[in-house]
Amino acid sequence: MLNLLIFGPPGAGKGTQAKMLAEKYQLNYFSTGEIFREEMAKGSELGNKVKNIIEQGALVPDEITIAILEERIIEKKEGNGFLLDGFPRTIPQAEALDIFMQKENLKISGVLSLEVHNEEIIKRLILRGQTSGRLDDNEESIKNRLEVYDKQTAPLLEYYQKKGNLLPVNGIGDIDEIQNNLCIEIDKIK
Ligand code: ADP
Repeated sequence: MLNLLIFGPPGAGKGTQAKMLAEKYQLNYFSTGEIFREEMAKGSELGNKVKNIIEQGALVPDEITIAILEERIIEKKEGNGFLLDGFPRTIPQAEALDIFMQKENLKISGVLSLEVHNEEIIKRLILRGQTSGRLDDNEESIKNRLEVYDKQTAPLLEYYQKKGNLLPVNGIGDIDEIQNNLCIEIDKIK
């Protein structure tokens, strides 16, 4: 089984790259951001609960995020493994994932980290905001998401580096080139 995580600041291109990887390696793809956007679009109870939080660029509380992600993984256990995009995003989420994986007798095979500097990120997100229709691609929210990333999510890189499964990849370049570099890292651990 191949169970992967993908990290990177907002706008690093995680979603694009992750979907291509999921297709190539036949992995179940889970994006907590996408799950929340679907729930908001449906107007479900969960969607309504998280809407204001997401709009502001803040994080949805850990207990909500952990519960929905675990529920989705359990629903879809067959296949070659999974690829998580946007989860974990805090140390408590990472710890919860470790406990969940142990309970389910699963292992994280590798943690991909797409590296893109802040200047490039801000440029990309503002550009994306012009067409994405996403509530949180406005300047205020982008600023918040980057701060949240630095404070709460970036420490996870060290968390996984200590465990020995961090795979850093340069996130600047054209999409296929980045994809290729990600595949090189994955093929090393397969
Ligand atoms: P981006 O990486 O561009 O910010 P995502 O689609 O991953 O986009 O996430 C969008 C928003 O969804 C986040 O800003 C946050 O509010 C919420 N979200 C997604 N994943 C998580 C998570 N693991 N924990 C808490 N909130 C999350």
